[in-house]
Amino acid sequence: MKNQTIQCVECSSHMEKHDQSWRCKECRKEYTKNEDGVYIAWPNNLSQMEKDEIAYHDTFDENAEETHQLRRPRNYFYHNLVWQYMKKQEKGVDFLEIGCGSGFDAKQFAQDYTLTLSDISPKTLYRLKKVLGEKVAMYVAAEGSTMPFADESFSCVYMFATLHHLEQPRQAIKEYARLLRSGGLFVAAIEPNRFYFKQIKRFRNILCKLTHMKHEDGSHADAEMEGFSQKEIAHFFSKEVWKNVDIRPMWFFAGFLHYMLEFLFRGLKRKERIRLPKIIETAIVHIDEAFFKIPGAKHLCWHWIITAKKQ
Ligand SMILES: [Zn+2]
Repeated sequence: MKNQTIQCVECSSHMEKHDQSWRCKECRKEYTKNEDGVYIAWPNNLSQMEKDEIAYHDTFDENAEETHQLRRPRNYFYHNLVWQYMKKQEKGVDFLEIGCGSGFDAKQFAQDYTLTLSDISPKTLYRLKKVLGEKVAMYVAAEGSTMPFADESFSCVYMFATLHHLEQPRQAIKEYARLLRSGGLFVAAIEPNRFYFKQIKRFRNILCKLTHMKHEDGSHADAEMEGFSQKEIAHFFSKEVWKNVDIRPMWFFAGFLHYMLEFLFRGLKRKERIRLPKIIETAIVHIDEAFFKIPGAKHLCWHWIITAKKQ
């Protein structure tokens, strides 16, 4: 990581590299490297929800591939779509992931790009560091809307299922514009559509009972979020700063399938998740893609995939 790239999250000044830390020349804020080799660069005033997120993700080592069934066609189709789009970027340029989690997506870019991985949870980063090792330029624990990097440090800033975990998504999008170079690519894949998730939040108590979950189980940020409408997302991207903003739908029938299968798995306390034959799942994805061609149908999607370029 180039020295000039690290910036103070408190006063935006240049940071100086020391043996095991970066130190702000102005306010003396320090990012120390912990015993796991992860830099801690949180702002001083973390909210209670952010502290809860750190504690939850530090403790709970989620097997994301299994929990979210990421290798099944209904998910893989869309992850792969985004990966292929991102890989059109010139090899070797700087990529930053916000909320890298277990690294399902980061693994795609570790080889060919200069990759910086961030997550609010240091233990999550440590677990991924054990898998990806030194291929990654830097592992840094940061809060997603106050990042410890200088302006225009990256050619691509991306996130998968992360924006809705942040308390101030609008502020976060501004932050990513700051981090991107002119023409740089921003991707926020798999963001929940308010159309469903507002209702899901309303019935959360009943759903928790039926699926044998305690109300306090899981990520608080996930429990509190209501998702976004397409219009709301569009408002995050001001025309003066962004161009080519695309907000495309993901899952109609596949969404009902996904959540119904998860509901049955938990509700019936089954040992393993139910799997449909791949060919059927793939067909459902293609039916969804055809369905979304009907005018207005995209508003019935379960998730959004957002891409944009900085002016
Ligand atoms: Zn400072």
